[in-house]
Amino acid sequence: MNLARFPRLSFAHLPTPLEPMKRLTEFLGGPRLWIKRDDCTGLSTGGNKTRKLEFLMADALGQGADTILTQGATQSNHARQTAAIAARLGLDCHLLLEDRTGSNDENYNFNGNVLIDRLHGATVSKRPGGADMQAEMEKLADQLRREGKKPYLIPGGGSNPVGALGYVNAALEIVYQATAIGLNISTVVHATGSAGTQAGLVTGFKALGGQVPVLGIGVRAPREKQEANVFDLARRTADHIGLGDIVERSDVAANCDYVGPGYGLPTPGMVDAVTLLARMEGILLDPVYSGKGMDGLIDLVRKGRFEKDSDIVFLHTGGSAALFGYPDAFGLPLYDQQAQ
Ligand SMILES: *Cc1c(COP(=O)(O)O)cnc(C)c1O
Repeated sequence: MNLARFPRLSFAHLPTPLEPMKRLTEFLGGPRLWIKRDDCTGLSTGGNKTRKLEFLMADALGQGADTILTQGATQSNHARQTAAIAARLGLDCHLLLEDRTGSNDENYNFNGNVLIDRLHGATVSKRPGGADMQAEMEKLADQLRREGKKPYLIPGGGSNPVGALGYVNAALEIVYQATAIGLNISTVVHATGSAGTQAGLVTGFKALGGQVPVLGIGVRAPREKQEANVFDLARRTADHIGLGDIVERSDVAANCDYVGPGYGLPTPGMVDAVTLLARMEGILLDPVYSGKGMDGLIDLVRKGRFEKDSDIVFLHTGGSAALFGYPDAFGLPLYDQQAQ
């Protein structure tokens, strides 16, 4: 497999650290839990989309684009990372944000990622929940073309075979790091949404011999649909690289039991997981993805899904900027009683 033949720009701080979570491991009584810090990719509070955008933005420049369009939910981390990289490249950036939660909360609508989108100078416009966001992007692209612009469209989450290359490469990085410290990873667990992260990881691990299972914790779709989306994109990604049919349906596993009432809506398990990681490891998760992913991991550990004497890696996909869109979800008092 030769990823170097695909055009790529360099934005991410790589390799991201792979660290033990000692207190959380002790608290849960095993297995040994590790964290792969893709929340530390560097630009604009980091996150998993930066790896995908290294390949997508190179493709955009290769096509002579001067304007980047992408879409996501209101508190999209992907939109924020796209806005940051577009700024760095001196490209115009238009973000279409879908109101998936129906929240009227000021912080949800204007703080967190939305504030950062604006700081990076992106043009932000809203669309109602359930809108055909790809069609909305095409419409805006047509308008921009009529104005003489050269728009490049990035799908939601940057999840297509070009973006997924970022996580094929991350699989190589993880295997290399684990090998260097003699770590035998029994499963990689992470939050899965638009499917590019898992599709890339599954393809990359498979290309290396397929001995690192991946478990995606869903944040939106039911399990069958999520697994089908990941499998489809993994196949197309493997094809794009020229690896043929190496990914099998049985390589793709998702657990979608931790979504709660819906995408972007808080759950008690998410609140507990975010609070626990903040207090035990000093690590910030996010309310939409990594918080639910960690809720799933903790619950599955408690249910005995993993052998005690094994090593599990949680891929932290970022998103902590979204915490500021959800300040009320955590039930924290404004003031503590002072000791007299
Ligand atoms: C986008 C995102 C994910 C999901 O990754 P996909 O490639 O869309 O499946 C997970 N966590 C965070 C914080 C994200 O922003």
